[in-house]
Amino acid sequence: MSASILDGVMLAGKVRESVAADVKSWVERGYRAPKLQVILVGENPASSAYVGAKTRACEDVGIESDTLILPDTISEIELTEVIGDFNRDEATDGILVQLPIPAHITPLSVIEAIDYRKDVDGFHPMNVGRMSVGQPCFRPCTPAGIIEMLRHYSIPTKGKHAVVVGASNIVGSPAAILLSRENTTGKATTTICHKFTKDLTKHTISADILIVAVGQPGLVTGQMVKEGVVVIDVGITRVADHTTERGYRLTGDCDFDSVSEKASWITPVPGGVGPMTVAMLMKNTLLAAKKSIYPR
Ligand code: NAD
Repeated sequence: MSASILDGVMLAGKVRESVAADVKSWVERGYRAPKLQVILVGENPASSAYVGAKTRACEDVGIESDTLILPDTISEIELTEVIGDFNRDEATDGILVQLPIPAHITPLSVIEAIDYRKDVDGFHPMNVGRMSVGQPCFRPCTPAGIIEMLRHYSIPTKGKHAVVVGASNIVGSPAAILLSRENTTGKATTTICHKFTKDLTKHTISADILIVAVGQPGLVTGQMVKEGVVVIDVGITRVADHTTERGYRLTGDCDFDSVSEKASWITPVPGGVGPMTVAMLMKNTLLAAKKSIYPR
């Protein structure tokens, strides 16, 4: 078997087109354009690139955005005070603190400082909790993008075995929650693997749907998956490559050549989950502006 490609660029384009049309009609009805406030702490080149992609997407769909760049010496208290100002600002609909943040600041403290009604990343415990019990919430953008992708390509999940490799709060764990909910999305039987999992292959080989979000290029090879598996490779790692102009290329967690020989569907890296993440952020920001999830 040679896998078909799950085209994140094409699908993200469709999602963004639909958000752009909704923003246009929202503004035509007399409301101000949605506004996303991005906070970037320090100068991590990958983070700056992600923020650039997000703010360009905002511009593309008619969402206003502003990026506040703070020094990496800022204290946790100062950062939460800045967030508090945006929480109180009526003209700010969504707030996003680009992760990772410097090690002296606890990420969850920062996330909890964001008003959950403006938490368009969907990382606040209020949104995570509501997602876990199937209540309306801001769903985290990467897992929501994965679900959207499976839905668009009519890939059945009900009763399938979904294996998620990686258990972070922002990708692996929420992806597993969404896939396993029996009353809403997913309806899959779900296994979560992480760095303490013994014999990873024992789990990956039985996956009908395999989601890999670790950040280790080549972790999953063709020998670790079964024929016909659907593979969602979330990993994005910069690997030095002097043949490219930038001096690096982006690589996923799967050995694409050997895995795609056995898979029925696979996401490329780049061009798979990454663009979907940005598109779902646009969707969440519009929902925040319309107060669709938390009416006030
Ligand atoms: P993280 O570092 O927070 O978590 C990594 C997870 O992988 C942990 O649960 C850890 O236990 C697990 N792990 C580590 N080694 C393992 C091993 N050998 N076997 C099994 N599990 C192992 O990472 P994250 O923030 O979830 O990101 C994961 C990857 O996804 C990174 O490459 C990141 O850049 C990428 N990412 C991509 C997008 C996107 O939009 N495509 C969004 C977020 C993150």
